[in-house]
Amino acid sequence: MNIILLGAPGAGKGTQAAFLTEHYTLTLVGTGDMFRKAISEGTDLGKKADAYVQSGQLVPDALVFDIIQENLKIDDWHRGLLFDGFPRTIEQAKELEKIVSAQKTVIDNVVFVSVNDEVLIDRLVNRWTCAKCKKIYGKQAVSTDAQAVCAACGGTLTKRADDNPETVKKRLVEYKQKTEPILDYFGSKVLRVDGSLTIEEVTKGLIAAIGN
Ligand code: AMP
Repeated sequence: MNIILLGAPGAGKGTQAAFLTEHYTLTLVGTGDMFRKAISEGTDLGKKADAYVQSGQLVPDALVFDIIQENLKIDDWHRGLLFDGFPRTIEQAKELEKIVSAQKTVIDNVVFVSVNDEVLIDRLVNRWTCAKCKKIYGKQAVSTDAQAVCAACGGTLTKRADDNPETVKKRLVEYKQKTEPILDYFGSKVLRVDGSLTIEEVTKGLIAAIGN
């Protein structure tokens, strides 16, 4: 099974992707994580993508296709894939369809996690990520610095460089201009799930929408 998870930054795609990959035994294709890794390792692609990621702009499509090609192995397709953060432009959606048909497979589900802007901004500026296991926390989990430790693995909780109010606003503008049109592109294929509920409720909603 291959799934595309769509939604604005802060909609909870990363959190839900972790549950869905486990539930459906899928390989995660997360372009945001791929770029952050390339940037932290100082690779050529990382150097080219760095300024875009830090400023909250979308990385040009050509670099996105390169990072996917670098990270996605033929064997991954046997397991089924969950795309989180890709596609983010109509061009990327078209390219993904080409890649998928070249693999003689299909996209089984396109799921949109819907959350209003006020909630998105509040979630993003208060988001913490475990440096070790990448688990994501909201403000409730980190009320003081002394508690800034991952409950799952003990790793240090860090703030993403692009989760500051100014960059968050730019990311939402980019999302509305370039990514939201993908919903129309996929049309009636899109399953909509309310992402403003609790994490557990959203997971249930996603599993109910996707089915078995
Ligand atoms: P994310 O972790 O998905 O929020 O992505 C973080 C940043 O990586 C985005 O703000 C973009 O700068 C870049 N990025 C990730 N995926 C893509 C993509 N599919 N197309 C363009 N830029 C991307």
